[in-house]
Amino acid sequence: QKCLSLIKKTKFLNAYITVSEEVALKQAEESEKRYKNGQSLGDLDGIPIAVKDNFSTSGIETTCASNMLKGYIPPYNATVVQKLLDQGALLMGKTNLDEFAMGSGSTDGVFGPVKNPWSYSKQYREKRKQNPHSENEDSDWLITGGSSGGSAAAVSAFTCYAALGSDTGGSTRNPAAHCGLVGFKPSYGLVSRHGLIPLVNSMDVPGILTRCVDDAAIVLGALAGPDPRDSTTVHEPINKPFMLPSLADVSKLCIGIPKFQFCILTFCYKEYLVPELSSEVQSLWSKAADLFESEGAKVIEVSLPHTSYSIVCYHVLCTSEVASNMARFDGLQYGHRCDIDVSTEAMYAATRREGFNDVVRGRILSGNFFLLKENYENYFVKAQKVRRLIANDFVNAFNSGVDVLLTPTTLSEAVPYLEFIKEDNRTRSAQDDIFTQAVNMAGLPAVSIPVALSNQGLPIGLQFIGRAFCDQQLLTVAKWFE
Ligand code: GLN
Repeated sequence: QKCLSLIKKTKFLNAYITVSEEVALKQAEESEKRYKNGQSLGDLDGIPIAVKDNFSTSGIETTCASNMLKGYIPPYNATVVQKLLDQGALLMGKTNLDEFAMGSGSTDGVFGPVKNPWSYSKQYREKRKQNPHSENEDSDWLITGGSSGGSAAAVSAFTCYAALGSDTGGSTRNPAAHCGLVGFKPSYGLVSRHGLIPLVNSMDVPGILTRCVDDAAIVLGALAGPDPRDSTTVHEPINKPFMLPSLADVSKLCIGIPKFQFCILTFCYKEYLVPELSSEVQSLWSKAADLFESEGAKVIEVSLPHTSYSIVCYHVLCTSEVASNMARFDGLQYGHRCDIDVSTEAMYAATRREGFNDVVRGRILSGNFFLLKENYENYFVKAQKVRRLIANDFVNAFNSGVDVLLTPTTLSEAVPYLEFIKEDNRTRSAQDDIFTQAVNMAGLPAVSIPVALSNQGLPIGLQFIGRAFCDQQLLTVAKWFE
């Protein structure tokens, strides 16, 4: 009841697309009955959880924040949604996102942008008052980051205890960093993607947003495991419930600090203004490394020489997969269909023009360009090879004895919405993912945890990256640091 009333009170954040009040109340009643009757309880019994609106939910509208899927009601639950329900979780609703999870601001969905709850913190408001250039209060709010910004805002505003996001290039970690939360991206293959409407099949993973690392581990325990409906899930044994040990001593750990060379990016983006890593984030990053060192851990600099190509490489692969994924939205099978009936081709074209926003259409066009017969070798195949080099950089770092890598999550704290939309969103979105995208291309687990507040009073996150399928070890280190 309390979470539902907070959802109503914080409606202005635009965190939810659909609030499933009736479903949640019914589930709560059943959970209470189980408790009172002394029946065995699930790991998440009675816990309010929200789900990003790109996971299929049986009987509940699933829109991907797109005109294309407005009104679409899936006949089945995504495996992760079913697993949450099987463990007794209460489904609070479906959260807002960038259309089809393309973006890193949660500003691009058809239901409008998500507002960061931290925009309304006392400390931040006072700071803004001191700024003579600050806009009036109604328009002066911060983005949540994205694309799982609705899930992040929902947890951050206490409307639920955990939320599912998706993470293809940083979409869970980025909003977690901007909203002061833990954002966990599991190893690719550890958690089923069945029912997660795909962005980039080879990089997508369901992500978990919570307020602390232990909570993320409990949710992971409920979700992880092989799924016959997703052939990319692996048969890794996983202890359940997924409890994290308390690490008393980090002196046996080796922490790797990658040296990022932003200038190499200008190789491709010469005319783009690549913002520097903010000095506050940079200083927190080195303080974190110092802390590990002072506690006896070995801290070494590592080189990931191909990371600088990750944004370019990601975009060739992402758009190519998008071009093929989006082909299913043709106005025939489900979702939106335009009124034009001159010919099937005209119907396809008009439906897709009306259904997708320009970010989605842009990616479909780029992807089809990269996949043209004459371009395929030069772009798509080359990007696949670069992806392998990027993944191998991580393998080399871990083979040199590194247990986890420590990096920033984002370049800076959350920025005001008006500032974010001033620049071309697509450029901004691409730049923001510099620390997170390579991880998806390598399929590794990574977690962003909140470390401190900036001078403006806004949360800043740092990211730990682990070896593939060493998710438990990764979270244990993050818990120690938390
Ligand atoms: N910002 C990236 C993109 O737009 C990643 C999005 C995501 O992780 N879903 O592709």
